[in-house]
Amino acid sequence: MPASTPQEIAREAVKRLAARKLPPTPENFQATYHEVAGTKPLRPFPLENLRHIGAMLPDRTPAQIRFKAQFGKAVTQHSWEDLEKALVNHLKNHSTPETPAPVPTAVPVVEEHSLPADLREQVARIVNFSLPAVGNDDTKVVELAEELVAYLKLDSLHLPTLRKMMADFAFRLSFVAEEQQHIRETLLGLLHTVFENIGAITPENPWLQGQMEALMQATQPPLSTRRLEDVERRLKGLIVKQIEAKEQTLAAQQVMKETLSTFLQRLSQTADSSEHYQQQFEACAQRLEHARSLAEMAPVVQEAIQSARSLALDSRRTGEELSSLRQRAEEAEQEAQRLRDELDRMSEMARHDLLTGTLNRKGMAEVAAREMSRADRGASQPCLALLDIDDFKRLNDRLGHLKGDNALQHLARVAKTSLRPQDAVARFGGEEFVIILPDTSITEAVEVITRLQRELSKQLFLEGDEHILITFSAGVVQRRDGESIESMLNRADQAMYAAKRQGKNRVVAA
Ligand code: GH3
Ligand code: MG
Ligand code: MG
Repeated sequence: MPASTPQEIAREAVKRLAARKLPPTPENFQATYHEVAGTKPLRPFPLENLRHIGAMLPDRTPAQIRFKAQFGKAVTQHSWEDLEKALVNHLKNHSTPETPAPVPTAVPVVEEHSLPADLREQVARIVNFSLPAVGNDDTKVVELAEELVAYLKLDSLHLPTLRKMMADFAFRLSFVAEEQQHIRETLLGLLHTVFENIGAITPENPWLQGQMEALMQATQPPLSTRRLEDVERRLKGLIVKQIEAKEQTLAAQQVMKETLSTFLQRLSQTADSSEHYQQQFEACAQRLEHARSLAEMAPVVQEAIQSARSLALDSRRTGEELSSLRQRAEEAEQEAQRLRDELDRMSEMARHDLLTGTLNRKGMAEVAAREMSRADRGASQPCLALLDIDDFKRLNDRLGHLKGDNALQHLARVAKTSLRPQDAVARFGGEEFVIILPDTSITEAVEVITRLQRELSKQLFLEGDEHILITFSAGVVQRRDGESIESMLNRADQAMYAAKRQGKNRVVAA
């Protein structure tokens, strides 16, 4: 008896699957179910693929626009019939290409197969990809590109027309590219002049001078995104610094103003009091002139001596006050300088580890973010290595914490000198270091870290007369698409622990 209810059909389908020894996957079951029921399997409507095709359809002529609309409507309604109707009608009515240039009747129309679809697609992609590189300033090149891409999408092509369109586009592109190159060079030159001038008007600030020189170096051609980002980062640092310096200068000015005003006040007091003594002395002198006897003179002289004593005392006090004032002014100036130095150090410290001079976690996060976004824009994925010094606790116990610190500095020094300038070294905490290696394959990264190990065993850490070998275990990973820094560190950490378990002093890639 043939199966009729869904339950019976399903049961029969399972039996057939078993009899044919087929695994009961959803596909096998669905196919067998339809076979038992005598029905056609339903296929899901490929909405996304068809929408994509619809978006690519040309819309340069009224007929193309009409067809594109019909196509879109049929896709939205999931209607195969409407789609079929639209396609057949369009092909029936417009089987000759509507090209921007008239097709000479004498030249035969070259059919699609004479220029393979994938080749046309490639050419269209090259044209599209070349546009962002030349910017949007030249509307003509954009227009030519759009026409060319639309033409390449036509069903059949007229090769001489295509050749002409490509030549026109290439010609326009060549001088737009030249123009862009010129603009780039001019802008770079301008930037250079700006840096040079900022450097020249602030010769008294060595920090700024250093930054300006670094900026001028970074803006030497050839340019790369990384160098531009470096320039941007340095400029931001510079702005922060300028704001800090301005605030400090204002504070120092305030201190100087207060000191000066106190100084003037004291000075006028000194003048006042000397006038007062002068008057006293004058009075004494007059009284002395008029004194007719020693008895009359004695109290006057007594008074004059008293005044002279007071004057001496007063001027000593004033002198002391003035010198203490000077001292305070000097102290204020020194304090301002100390603050300036401290701020210099603080802004460095914000990114650098004080002990080793390598980047700290924050500095590393910045570099990682930069490299990751570079990779997200199309550069290759960066590698990351996590290093942990082997048996560091023993070294500390044997030589003391201070020597342990020196050993960390030694490792940082060797790492910085033996790696490429674009590799970033960071102290991740304690005796762990992170190294970020841009534009490096995982094999190369493992080689680089292994070379660092060799370098460390060559450049022994010298403690007194003793040469001490420092080794580390490392885990190396390459970033996966879209992977976060935390996940990379996690994987590197696991690989590093694997290296420890395997006997230390080795590099493990994950
Ligand atoms: P392993 O090979 O398994 O890594 O052994 P280890 O001794 O290196 O590892 P452990 O984590 O047991 O010890 C790390 C030691 O590193 C503990 C601590 O005394 C020392 N340490 C961490 N930070 C510093 C630092 O800044 N200076 C110094 N001198 N020692 C540090
Ligand atoms: Mg450790
Ligand atoms: Mg350790």
